[in-house]
Amino acid sequence: MLKLPIYMDNNSTTRTDPRVVDAMIPFFTEKFGNAASRNHPFGWEADEAVGEARKQIGNLIGSGPSEIIFTSGATEAINLALKGVAQMYKKKGNHIITQVTEHKATLDTCKRLEKDGFQVTYLPVDKFGQVSAEQIREALTDKTILVSIMAANNEIGSLQPIKAIGKLCKEKGILFHTDAVQAVGKIPINVDEMGIDLLSMSGHKMYGPKGIGALYVRKKDPRVRLDPQIDGGGHERGMRSGTLPVPLIVGLGEAADICYREMAEESKKTYRLREKLRKGIMSQLPESYINGHPDERLPGNANISFAYVEGEGLMMGIKDVAVSSGSACTSASLEPSYVLRALGVGDELAHSSIRFGIGRFNTEEEVDYVIDLVVREVNRLREMSPLYEMAQEGIDLKSIEWSGH
Ligand SMILES: *Cc1c(COP(=O)(O)O)cnc(C)c1O
Repeated sequence: MLKLPIYMDNNSTTRTDPRVVDAMIPFFTEKFGNAASRNHPFGWEADEAVGEARKQIGNLIGSGPSEIIFTSGATEAINLALKGVAQMYKKKGNHIITQVTEHKATLDTCKRLEKDGFQVTYLPVDKFGQVSAEQIREALTDKTILVSIMAANNEIGSLQPIKAIGKLCKEKGILFHTDAVQAVGKIPINVDEMGIDLLSMSGHKMYGPKGIGALYVRKKDPRVRLDPQIDGGGHERGMRSGTLPVPLIVGLGEAADICYREMAEESKKTYRLREKLRKGIMSQLPESYINGHPDERLPGNANISFAYVEGEGLMMGIKDVAVSSGSACTSASLEPSYVLRALGVGDELAHSSIRFGIGRFNTEEEVDYVIDLVVREVNRLREMSPLYEMAQEGIDLKSIEWSGH
């Protein structure tokens, strides 16, 4: 039996895999030691579990275990990467390159760095939400110390040409950070093959727990140094002090290990379900548009806009399905998503866009249900729309002179 509501918002967060929960539980109960306690078995046991998690995570992204620095999540990892590099290398230069559809964790950190005297170039994206290595080459100056480009976008799923950007950065001797939160565990990522020096990831986007993330920090060729953002105790090679949350770390390790073993199969399944959803909806609804790149995108992500439909009405109509809309609720108004705007999507279409995030626990039955519901609701709303009626009658809406405002 189909159970409502259906969760289809896996780019926002994912359910913690039950196998991850099982792995964590002993570290809340009998194995509760502090990983920094050197004098008794409780500490050794905790330290060993943390070491195992480092290996599991390193295995997934092709890094060494000691290159993993644990943080409270990706927001903290990104802050540490960007501010840590900026402060450590400021004698070398003060210029950073990023792009406009990054997550706010990157954009707001860059804004802060601008206040502190750094210069940031925000590259524009093309209609698919992508930048090119060539754009980065053109933006480089002799003051550039860091390039930060996400591996995959959280709203539209578009992948960035990480390998080409990494290669360019290597050539130029500039550090390269990638926010790989959406990519790790979903598509193959290898820090050596892709020339990545720093990589941010998050537990709760890959079926692990909330409150844990990691920053990969390259140890050789080059050895990356970071100015710590949190002092006290010198944990994590001095880069991030604070008692390690052993249960969460064990959970992230287990989540990474499951992804390592199952990613190839799982991404085939999420891709198949996503394509079924996309085709099922778009073949039945004219004037629906996919946002982001048609192929170079995360396997489980579909972001679709529906013309002649009012976004809030649509969200209400499909409230049994947990998805995200293309509007961001700010305190006073409903703003269209800055990501869709950057692709050149008009405000109307941005407001009527829906992000479907298909993940590990979604089923074929759920996808069938969602296709039917969305098609029915969009048709119902369109039937009530005078604009849709006029368009159907062949009236060019752009030719109408609107009164009022
Ligand atoms: C969720 C997300 C973040 C923030 O991660 P937290 O662990 O929730 O702080 C950063 N970047 C991207 C692309 C994300 O999707």
